[in-house]
Amino acid sequence: MKIMKFGGTSVASAERINHVAKLITATSEPKVIVLSAMAGTTNQLVDIAAELVQRDSIVAKDLIEELKEKYLMETQKLFPKAECFHAVWKKLDQTFFFLENMCKVSNFTLFDEKRVLAQGELMSVAMMLQHLEDLGHKACWLPALDYMRTDKKAEPDETYIELHLRRLMQRSPQDVQLFVTEGYICKNAYGDIDNLQRGGSDYTASLIGAALKAEEIQIWTDIDGMHNNDPRVVEETVPVRRLHFEEAAELAYFGAKILHPTCIQPAKKNNIPVRLLNTMEPDKPGTLISNDTDKDQIKAVAAKDGLTMIKVKSSHMLVSWVFMRRLLQVFEHYQISIDMITSSEVGVSVCVEIWDELPELLADLRKLGEVSVEEHMTIICVVGDMEWENVGFETQVLEALRDIPVRMISYGASDYNLSVLVRQSDKRNALISLSNHLFASSKQ
Ligand code: ADP
Ligand code: ASP
Ligand code: MG
Repeated sequence: MKIMKFGGTSVASAERINHVAKLITATSEPKVIVLSAMAGTTNQLVDIAAELVQRDSIVAKDLIEELKEKYLMETQKLFPKAECFHAVWKKLDQTFFFLENMCKVSNFTLFDEKRVLAQGELMSVAMMLQHLEDLGHKACWLPALDYMRTDKKAEPDETYIELHLRRLMQRSPQDVQLFVTEGYICKNAYGDIDNLQRGGSDYTASLIGAALKAEEIQIWTDIDGMHNNDPRVVEETVPVRRLHFEEAAELAYFGAKILHPTCIQPAKKNNIPVRLLNTMEPDKPGTLISNDTDKDQIKAVAAKDGLTMIKVKSSHMLVSWVFMRRLLQVFEHYQISIDMITSSEVGVSVCVEIWDELPELLADLRKLGEVSVEEHMTIICVVGDMEWENVGFETQVLEALRDIPVRMISYGASDYNLSVLVRQSDKRNALISLSNHLFASSKQ
């Protein structure tokens, strides 16, 4: 069994949906196809929900109308036969009927918002199933809302997912080898519609792969695998052919948008390889993520913006281990993840995502010592075979950054990563310089 997940740009138009349909039916091996919403749809649904929260139903209606126009246009192209067009609109009408009704409710709740956000994936699956039927292929729908569930801690309920997913598949006709399901959407522990966070369709694919002990999880997108630097910032990046699970997890967490950070964990736990592939160039090798890795190399660089550095200089009234414990307790209290931490005899610096309750957090930290803050910071994460006994890699990274002020350096917590904190305004130069120093020989 293979899991094939297609992102928003892969199903962005009638033409692309047709292309994906051809790709998934080219071989007869069993597969689960995970679909995202068409590119732009979830953003539009977010905007619609925001207007409904503000109780501006006039703007919300216009946005819904705009969305409907887009789906009318694409479905006219994808379903030229009237009966097929009507069949798919029986499903799509449910979405637009629901959205239009939401404009009439007086109290638009958080639950309603989640239901609104779920519509994009539901529509993609409806269109794909109808198109596959029109092409004469047998496929079976696996409704994500019937098996994808989170627990009371908002973590995926792996036991529930496996049991219900397998049950659904067993109940499907024996001769069906092609299953289609929605990415991103799920129900929570209380049975309300929820989601796995923006970009979470990758996570759906990985959770399904783990539940079914799949032979491979494929993430199909608009680029030929994980590149060695951020292609949105740096020109002439090239794909990395092989990555270790840990390397991919670091890159995804620190800004490589191609992969949702949560996606690696279920695959790694079950040792299922993840392959990143390009929908528009399916013959390209892409990137294989597994437990194997190419040693003695720096593989790639990624960057995460929007960070704040907080330095706490100990007041020396607390012995160092008590100071550290108290400091971490403050972050625990506010449920803030620390992205980077460095320490010295006099104090500790941490780097966190910007967050609304920062003034309260800072007030609590001031009880421990003198606090200073720097906003608009970026973590640059360099990933590769960074084992401490490999000499020279740290020097290469720092040499590349010789002209850029570095605020923090983190190394040694993982065998795969060295991270530095720089000003957001220096990010571009830092990424370009790292590419020039580390990957000059691999440029195409
Ligand atoms: P999808 O809609 O298929 O989920 P995403 O937009 O989430 O696609 O991810 C693909 C995008 O990730 C690419 O178009 C690329 O701009 C961006 N990206 C950022 N960093 C990297 C990287 N290191 N390698 C490849 N793509 C990257
Ligand atoms: N459609 C959702 C989003 O845009 C989920 C995904 O594409 O992975 O965030
Ligand atoms: Mg994505």
